[in-house]
Amino acid sequence: MHYRSTPAQLVNTPLNWNNRFHQLGAGFYTPLMPQPVPSPYWVAHSQPAAQLLGLNDDWVKSNALLQAFSGNQILAGCQPLASVYSGHQFGQWAGQLGDGRALLLGEANGLEVQLKGSGLTPYSRMGDGRAVLRSSIREFLCSEAMQALGIPTTRALCVTGSDLPVRRETMETAAVVTRVAPSFIRFGHFEHFAARGQTDALRTLADYVIERYYPACLHTEAPGGNAYAALLQQVVERTALMLAHWQAVGFCHGVMNTDNMNILGLTLDYGPFALMDAFNPGHICNHTDHAGRYAFDAQPDIAHWNLYALAQALLPLVESQELALQALDTFKPLFAKHYHRLMCAKLGLREDSSADAGTLIEDLLVLLAHDRVDYPIFWRRLSHARMQSHYEPVRDLFIDRLAWDAWLLRYQELIALYQQGPEADLMLKTNPKYVLRNYLCEEAIEAARHKDFSAVQRLLQVVTHPFDEQPQAQAMAGFPPEWASRIEISCSS
Ligand code: AMP
Ligand code: MG
Repeated sequence: MHYRSTPAQLVNTPLNWNNRFHQLGAGFYTPLMPQPVPSPYWVAHSQPAAQLLGLNDDWVKSNALLQAFSGNQILAGCQPLASVYSGHQFGQWAGQLGDGRALLLGEANGLEVQLKGSGLTPYSRMGDGRAVLRSSIREFLCSEAMQALGIPTTRALCVTGSDLPVRRETMETAAVVTRVAPSFIRFGHFEHFAARGQTDALRTLADYVIERYYPACLHTEAPGGNAYAALLQQVVERTALMLAHWQAVGFCHGVMNTDNMNILGLTLDYGPFALMDAFNPGHICNHTDHAGRYAFDAQPDIAHWNLYALAQALLPLVESQELALQALDTFKPLFAKHYHRLMCAKLGLREDSSADAGTLIEDLLVLLAHDRVDYPIFWRRLSHARMQSHYEPVRDLFIDRLAWDAWLLRYQELIALYQQGPEADLMLKTNPKYVLRNYLCEEAIEAARHKDFSAVQRLLQVVTHPFDEQPQAQAMAGFPPEWASRIEISCSS
């Protein structure tokens, strides 16, 4: 056994802990201490995330917190634990997984705080319990960038690093990400107890989630009046909204296994993700996903599939296949509704611009895909073009300019027909200028490998103000360099 259950050193904490997940009891987790790392250092921190926890402005100057967020010391009041879950990976039942390298420290200010990369746990299987600097910076930046884009996500408070060597395809170094979310409970937590026939534990977990996060389910007027069916319905709704955001912004998750699906519909577990450069609906961002199961345009269907797995797990509580199916059947229309709304906003069209907007969106995506147009730049240029009624810079993005001209005519007709109001002005607040492109991550990571962490912090600043003009960062709003298309992101992290 390589893991510890007694704390190293207790540090007084500016946080007040209240560990409700811990109170669920023994079957849900293993109480566990993090494994220390040698000589940790700060890599990055998010002040907005710190504010959520109520940390004061000086928190990053605290050596005690550096040690605590590296897993070397324990904040007084925490009850660290590794939770157990199971799940479907790449469409196959994978059996027991669990927090193999994450520890839930506890709950502060109503938010769960988790260390990722803090050492071995009973659920580490073949892994080393560690996370590398590269993937930790990626997760940190994208969590905060997605939040700034208005996309439901878990948050990231900080990354700390250590020179501890970690073997992946090559030798790298260790890092720990401190993540923050109302809950890190996954579909896989439910699947775990359902697969084992532990209906009492399943009910305990579902009751906990309902009481804390979906209390309206207790007073459900829903068909059948079953709180667990209402819970499923709520998760379907949140997941549909999250997927609509992903598809609208061009986010590819890369590993949509059921153990990476959050019960609150938050984007969770940033691995080989990509915010697309050139628009390619079949884009596969995970280098190891040879079959393209998690390709960009497959994501909504995969989410639906994952919801089936959740429904299956909840069935002993829902007790009616019909009720479960009713909830599942709402996914597609809910997704379509949200997606339509978000795409209309990107186009600066009123949501009720009739079915014409729907075909206009579909046809636009065909054009963008055909000419592999840069997705963020297209939308940003369209936003400016619309304000100035000057579409030449957008036209320049296309190879098939006649097709673009024909599309533009229809777009302008629709604008005229519906007498658009403030929507056009909102386009610059809807279509980001700065997105976390993979190549920007790579550059910041390269600097961080040489112990220059300023690039990470700078990039954080830029991508967390995605709609603002930031003249000093103009270069980050341009086309990606040619080498960007050759970046390969594997699952290894
Ligand atoms: P992921 O594909 O990152 O979502 O991980 C799937 C499962 O493998 C989860 O149970 C993780 O905790 C576990 N895991 C991933 N990487 C490691 C690692 N380096 N050490 C231990 N467990 C890991
Ligand atoms: Mg995971």
